[in-house]
Amino acid sequence: MRLSRYFLPILRETPKEAEIVSHRLMLRAGMVRQESAGIYAWLPLGLRVLERVCRVIREEQERSGAVELLMPTVQSAELWRESGRYDAYGKEMLRLKDRHEREMLYGPTAEEMITEIFRASARSYKDLPKNLYQISWKFRDEVRPRFGTMRSREFLMKDGYSFDFDQAGARHAYNRVFVSYLRTFAGLGLKAIPMRADTGPIGGDLSHEFIILAQTGESEVFLDRAYLDFEIPAATVDFEDVAGLQGIVDSWTSHYAATDEIHDAAAFAEVPEASRMSARGIEVGHIFYFGTKYSEPMGAVVTGPDGIERPVHMGSYGIGPSRLVAAIIEASHDEAGIIWPDAVAPFDVALINLKTGDAGTDGACAEIQAQLESGGLSVLYDDRDERPGGKFATADLIGLPWQVIVGPKGLAEGKVELKRRATGERETLAPLDLLARIK
Ligand code: ATP
Ligand code: MG
Ligand code: MG
Ligand code: MG
Repeated sequence: MRLSRYFLPILRETPKEAEIVSHRLMLRAGMVRQESAGIYAWLPLGLRVLERVCRVIREEQERSGAVELLMPTVQSAELWRESGRYDAYGKEMLRLKDRHEREMLYGPTAEEMITEIFRASARSYKDLPKNLYQISWKFRDEVRPRFGTMRSREFLMKDGYSFDFDQAGARHAYNRVFVSYLRTFAGLGLKAIPMRADTGPIGGDLSHEFIILAQTGESEVFLDRAYLDFEIPAATVDFEDVAGLQGIVDSWTSHYAATDEIHDAAAFAEVPEASRMSARGIEVGHIFYFGTKYSEPMGAVVTGPDGIERPVHMGSYGIGPSRLVAAIIEASHDEAGIIWPDAVAPFDVALINLKTGDAGTDGACAEIQAQLESGGLSVLYDDRDERPGGKFATADLIGLPWQVIVGPKGLAEGKVELKRRATGERETLAPLDLLARIK
């Protein structure tokens, strides 16, 4: 991609309305633009990151046995009356009327709709287990939308739902997601710690929030430091192995970790003092087991081996990709800008032409771009007619993992410069060696 043809509205000034660094950097780097309070347009660079975050999520969902579908964002109030949540949900729900005066809503979550879809076809315990997920826009009329896409009103959510015949099956489903979330957040370059959580308006009795430690986090958290060194389950983990998964979950829940909502000071006091840690955290994922809370009132039943119908046991599992984009920046930036982890970088390489208009340099850049792209790397080529200083600043700001710097002086010796954004390390090498060095 040539930068001269791309759409990258960089802001020179630091936006005054942005209180936290990720919000400032997302605005400055031309990733998003606010269209109304808490409602953002995702500009091309931001969209690429969002899509890469979703790709990591999808990979781990599929690995754990979940199946993707896509439900409508606009839902009927009738459905929510069946569960009793239409009146209970309150002002966070955006309520609409269609031309026939029918009450509709923009989904803040989708337990009712997935239960409706499930009950329409499931008949027997043999149809179970199932885990269905979607990645789609949600709307919650937050009292205080703030921090950019960290707490917006319209936001992207991966929401998954599991259906099992009994509690033991549902526990296994819960554990599958628990382990897949550990892998997902690690795959995004983040250290997320599962913490025991309140079940809130969704209800139920088994729930964990996945929390990233960050000074700008909105929740106060208390944990045993030991978690910081825990190992992430390998890609080869067997999701069918009931006891194996339970073992992983048991070890990841064996120490103290809780948000302020359910913090138990007495239990925390039993953690060895050197291990005790209190910090701020960002909730990036949340999982619930809630049994038959929806299946019972909504009649989502299956017949068991004994021929008797029973409501299915359900759980729901959320991750916020649009919040994650901001959380990743909170965890990975410096004074000059964003530092994208390789897994989510919008492009792999910033190719910087130090002398646009010089035939030799232009030609070399075009060749390097073609060579890197044919090797499977994505390249954002800064071919603009601008001073090198401005190009360096842009490249540092948007934080692509690698910068390839090409100028007539180096080329005269057959060399270009390669800079690693995260460490600032530089080396000179022949253009033909770039691909092998970067990959
Ligand atoms: P919070 O406590 O931050 O309000 P929540 O507990 O209401 O979040 P859940 O219902 O658990 O959120 O939704 C699952 C996930 O969706 C959250 O863990 C978070 O990653 C994401 N999410 C929720 N609300 C927002 C929002 N307003 N903006 C961006 N992401 C959000
Ligand atoms: Mg909320
Ligand atoms: Mg919460
Ligand atoms: Mg939550």
